[in-house]
Amino acid sequence: MQQNKKSGKSLRLSLLMLLFVSAATSICAASKRGLDIYFIDVEGGAATLIVTPQGESLLIDTGYPGDRDAGRIAHVAIEVAGLRQIDHCVITHWHRDHVGGVAFLAKLIPIKKYYDHGLPQTIASDMQVENIEAYRVTTEDKSNTLKPGDEIALKTLKYLPLLKVRVLAAGGVVLGEQSNVPQIRPCGENFEAKAEDTSDNVNSIGILLTFRRFKFFDGSDLTWNIENRLACPRNVVGTVDVYQVDHHGVDSSNNPALVAALNPRVAIIDSGPRKGAEAHTFVTLKSLKQIEAIYQLHRNLRTTDRDNTMAGYIANEEEACQGNFIKLAVDETGNSYTVSIPPKRITRTYRTR
Ligand SMILES: [Zn+2]
Repeated sequence: MQQNKKSGKSLRLSLLMLLFVSAATSICAASKRGLDIYFIDVEGGAATLIVTPQGESLLIDTGYPGDRDAGRIAHVAIEVAGLRQIDHCVITHWHRDHVGGVAFLAKLIPIKKYYDHGLPQTIASDMQVENIEAYRVTTEDKSNTLKPGDEIALKTLKYLPLLKVRVLAAGGVVLGEQSNVPQIRPCGENFEAKAEDTSDNVNSIGILLTFRRFKFFDGSDLTWNIENRLACPRNVVGTVDVYQVDHHGVDSSNNPALVAALNPRVAIIDSGPRKGAEAHTFVTLKSLKQIEAIYQLHRNLRTTDRDNTMAGYIANEEEACQGNFIKLAVDETGNSYTVSIPPKRITRTYRTR
């Protein structure tokens, strides 16, 4: 009897210990998650999915209208990242390669909150009324207008690392400016302004994500002159680790003044087989002394190898492709990150600057 009591006690004790150990392990596991960024192939549009250490998700842009891009985004979100919903969805501007997929995607996965630079008062010639209308219906007219300086509130716990998503440009205004009056200031001796961009690209939401020491800039489709205002007279963004190359790598964007100010170690171009990843952008990126790698979602088929990055850095080689994505995983300390092209079993690790 005595014996049984004793062993009952020690059994309870061991069970308690086991419970304690497994609880502690799962807390450790939860706090040891890093931050993931998926660059999803939408054939020259944009769709960048960020998953925080807490499992919260932020999707920046939704690709073109139709099932193809929405299907690819939903596949990565649900099957690869294990998400059940998109918590935050930012539409950087009203062009179809960014807003187009939203209504299709919302049918495949719940989207909780929407952000944009403000619905257009009139539909300009570079916008399609059906895409704006589909967005309004999908969001039920409940979206948040972002302005420079705004932050997207993401869950962070006190003991977990610093995580911040901040808007540095939106609606044609750069953080620190009073209005959207064009105010070009020369950046270096060779600076030349281009003709003023009257498209909605100039209104793109440009975002800086900070995770501990790691910094990532997604400037969407910002163009030459407003890029200049991000760099001069003050470097608004600062230096970054990873740069999502502006405007799919076209040459009307990627002003050398901004690219030099960002001074990224890794550049990722969300190009299509016949869109983006243009020659001058490559010259600018390659001129950076500290650049370690340039990745492309697609080989640019309109040009030669010289104006493409190296083969092992391109997610999709052919026009008829599998829609391979690029994954960037920042480790839980923020001190290093890996860039991988999973279907090609390519993975490389970089140190945070
Ligand atoms: Zn675009």
